[in-house]
Amino acid sequence: MRKVLLAGNWKMNKSVRDLDAYFDALQQALGSQASTIAQKVDICIAPAFTLLAPCRQKIAGRPILLAAQNAHFAQDGAFTGEVSLKMLQDIPVDLVILGHSERRQYFNETDEDVGKKVDACVAQSLVPILCVGETLDERKANKTFEVVKRQVLVALKGQAPSLQPHQIVIAYEPVWAIGTGVTATDEQAQEVHAFIRGLLTEKFGQKTSEGIRILYGGSAKADNIVGLLNQKDIDGGLVGGASLKPDEFARMILSGLRKV
Ligand code: PEP
Repeated sequence: MRKVLLAGNWKMNKSVRDLDAYFDALQQALGSQASTIAQKVDICIAPAFTLLAPCRQKIAGRPILLAAQNAHFAQDGAFTGEVSLKMLQDIPVDLVILGHSERRQYFNETDEDVGKKVDACVAQSLVPILCVGETLDERKANKTFEVVKRQVLVALKGQAPSLQPHQIVIAYEPVWAIGTGVTATDEQAQEVHAFIRGLLTEKFGQKTSEGIRILYGGSAKADNIVGLLNQKDIDGGLVGGASLKPDEFARMILSGLRKV
């Protein structure tokens, strides 16, 4: 049984002065259910780099995981403006979002770049949340499976068959659904999740593939998360806009308890 993971990607939002109010409101909204939630749902927050250390302090003693939104694959060196995985281990973070479509789109990250980052991340015992997903044009041209297959296989090219399920998380995020308010239907999302799990089975074998969590991302919110989570191969969400509002994010986390 895969534990539900709900990860909030704050993108380039919030500042240190927002943190107390955010985490207090989240805790209050989760209320008396907090210990049940800890058993059944992993909660994760992915703030901007400058907020990682302050967030680590604020979540001390709370069952909340911390993720970075990106990392460079090199240990150190002349890469102005970049942050290495080694630096993230100082915080420390638990997970690292890699290959988000906004990184691919605005910062020209290629499948090969993402693969190098995944390799470095796993080698340094941090857990990548590998993001894949097709654009609207690609979906309209019936290229969804082709694109997702290429993104998954190139990013995982360096991974050995001995990879363990807890060492990686995949997020299927159709680009046309990110920040648009248009969510994939439960069936559309499940279809691609099942396809990704099939790719993982071919590469790592059935036992490993059945343990790897595959999250859905793209305008997920409290009102649509239950249907998504009830799909067989959807194990949680990578949540952008809705995670900025602690009450809404808490409602989504509580929905995680209802996954069948
Ligand atoms: C994301 O940034 O990964 C995301 C899914 O954003 P949103 O939920 O706002 O569509």
